[in-house]
Amino acid sequence: MPPSLTPTRITVDAEAQTFTIAWGDGHQTVFPLDGLRRACPCAACQGHAKMNELPDPEIFRLPALMRWNALRVEPAGSIGLRLIWDDGHDTGIYAWERLRAMCPCSECAPG
Ligand SMILES: [Zn+2]
Ligand SMILES: [Zn+2]
Repeated sequence: MPPSLTPTRITVDAEAQTFTIAWGDGHQTVFPLDGLRRACPCAACQGHAKMNELPDPEIFRLPALMRWNALRVEPAGSIGLRLIWDDGHDTGIYAWERLRAMCPCSECAPG
């Protein structure tokens, strides 16, 4: 894995409702929790056809409809992370590559 796809630290801040990944190349990705839930890559959430497409970065700019207070993060092998949400939804495997590609920061997703 290149450093840009190697996480060095993952932080969930329930107070700020953010999910932060620090990458091996020094980049930092901050997702709003509600946006990350909407971006769930599983077939049930995205449909089979769209699973390999990236979500519109706009979904990370929408106001949050839900607060997530009990997000659980588990490793999914070396592929990425499984996120287990307060609503019991646990089928989303968020691959490192996808997480990095979805980075909503102004550098990665201008506009
Ligand atoms: Zn899902
Ligand atoms: Zn970025």
